[in-house]
Amino acid sequence: MLFSELVEYFERLEKTTSRIEMTDILVSLFHKTPSETIDKVVYLTLGVVYPEYVGLELGIADKLALRALKQVTNITDKQLSEYMAKLGDLGLVAETVITKKEQMTLFSEPLTVEKVYSLFEKIAKTTGEGSIDLKIQILAGLLAQASPKEAKHILRIVTGKMRLGVADMTILDALAILYGGSKDVREHFERAYNISSDIGLVAKVAATEGLEGIKKFKISIGKPIRPMLAERLASADEILEKLDGKGMAEYKYDGERMQIHKSNDKIIIYSRRQENITHQYPDVVEEVKKQIKAKETILECETVAIDVNTGEMLPFQELMHRKRKKEIEKAIEEYPVNMFFFDVLYIDGEDFTVKPLLERRHALESILQESEMTRLSKAILVGDKETLERFFEEAVAAGCEGVMVKAVGKESIYRAGARGWLWIKYKRDYKSEMIDTVDLVIVGGFYGRGKRSGRYGALLLAVYDKTRDTFQTVCKVGSGFTDEDLEKFHQMLESLKLSHKHARVESIMEADVWFEPKIVIEVIGAEITQSPVHTCARDKIKKDTGLAIRFPRYTGRLRTDKKPEDATTAEEIIEMYNRQLKKITEAEKVSV
Ligand code: ATP
Repeated sequence: MLFSELVEYFERLEKTTSRIEMTDILVSLFHKTPSETIDKVVYLTLGVVYPEYVGLELGIADKLALRALKQVTNITDKQLSEYMAKLGDLGLVAETVITKKEQMTLFSEPLTVEKVYSLFEKIAKTTGEGSIDLKIQILAGLLAQASPKEAKHILRIVTGKMRLGVADMTILDALAILYGGSKDVREHFERAYNISSDIGLVAKVAATEGLEGIKKFKISIGKPIRPMLAERLASADEILEKLDGKGMAEYKYDGERMQIHKSNDKIIIYSRRQENITHQYPDVVEEVKKQIKAKETILECETVAIDVNTGEMLPFQELMHRKRKKEIEKAIEEYPVNMFFFDVLYIDGEDFTVKPLLERRHALESILQESEMTRLSKAILVGDKETLERFFEEAVAAGCEGVMVKAVGKESIYRAGARGWLWIKYKRDYKSEMIDTVDLVIVGGFYGRGKRSGRYGALLLAVYDKTRDTFQTVCKVGSGFTDEDLEKFHQMLESLKLSHKHARVESIMEADVWFEPKIVIEVIGAEITQSPVHTCARDKIKKDTGLAIRFPRYTGRLRTDKKPEDATTAEEIIEMYNRQLKKITEAEKVSV
């Protein structure tokens, strides 16, 4: 196919903003395109060379593109920048200056779509030392053969500025009309797209195998499936009503969603946006190889950073450490992760997206061997409001954002790329920062691991309860300590070590070492949450439930001016909790 023909269509598309008209133009374009070229035509129309998940971009900066242009036109830098200032668009500059060039050189053979595409591929794949010069050379070679209009679009594509306004969805419409007879069959095309994230491939299958091919379109390992998304409701009542009274509730972990593709020992990890993030998580790759028993499978999990010393979940921002290429090894050690698997979409040739949730869950359980790092999302079946509320509180206490409640009926398939009522998120709609710091008493310690071995990795902290004259645990703190702090605490606590829990300490948690309650330290946290494992204000709000500080951090201040009885009291924590609640609603108030 001649590139000039495609360019004519680009020109037509550029002139319209009407989606209907665009669809018509695309139908006519696809009709004219040979089936072996249609994927390339689709990518180029979208201004790319590959589907996004491949992660290969042309990546030519404007400055470099101008250099290539200069090479083929003998135009001066000054003139080029004048044109740029006047026209404001590299494509238009190319169109103008190439016209001038035409008088000087005759371009030989006409460009074909295949030729242009293969040179684009070459540009995208050229990496390493000297690659920039090479890219410019290839581009200049291409421009030397291009007509003014062709040059305009070539430059827009290579600089990532092809903005014809064509959306993926418009392309699906055009494919449905051309190969399926009407837009009514679009859902089949949409599904093909949602399970492959590759619109070029969908076009190719449509062009070669027609609607039947699209209907038979299959999931394949390596092609990311667009994620199923959830709607949101604010109360257990509403959720259960929406789900006809029953569902599966799961902890809603606050980390990074991963879609993991496994084919024997080859593992690819895709992000929620279908970017390939495998290189950020070599530890996950190794773990998946060990713990997942299926040969070929596609799984979904939420990956959460864990405090090495407390074992508690960290805020999702801590995964940022994985984004810096040079620091990944360090991040693996300092910010290890846990994966909480919640779905399976494909196992050894079988498409599981079409199966109801509980069947998928059973399959997931059967291929996953749990370990410290590899877990199943915590889940229960719920049929009443109280159970759901209790589970929700438990999830929050465990460091989660809330829960996901999912439909369990026959209809509960995995709907790729869709946001719907089969999954409902139930999060707390407030995020209150703890404004005040609290002063807490050290009552226990946990042996450190990794960099902290030989010292305490985390400390068990308590508030003071005036009425009972006891110290009640409220959090385990592992963050905020410098190396010097760790050394200092280790020494200071040496003389306070006890062989058993102090009689005035109330704790459900078992510390590695118990201390005489003496040292008071200042701590700041994110908020106060209900907790089944801490004894602060236990049974005051709810039976068998206490209060805890979420994401506690040592501020660096040792309160040597305070006696343990001067520490923050359980009553004060209840007040803080109440103030937090008040921000959302006056209801559910707790009396001190
Ligand atoms: P969305 O993904 O719905 O567009 P978002 O990115 O803002 O929204 P949330 O609204 O917080 O995320 O909730 C959905 C996300 O929760 C999922 O995309 C997934 O990453 C995460 N998640 C955590 N635990 C689970 C679970 N058990 N089941 C499904 N998703 C979970």
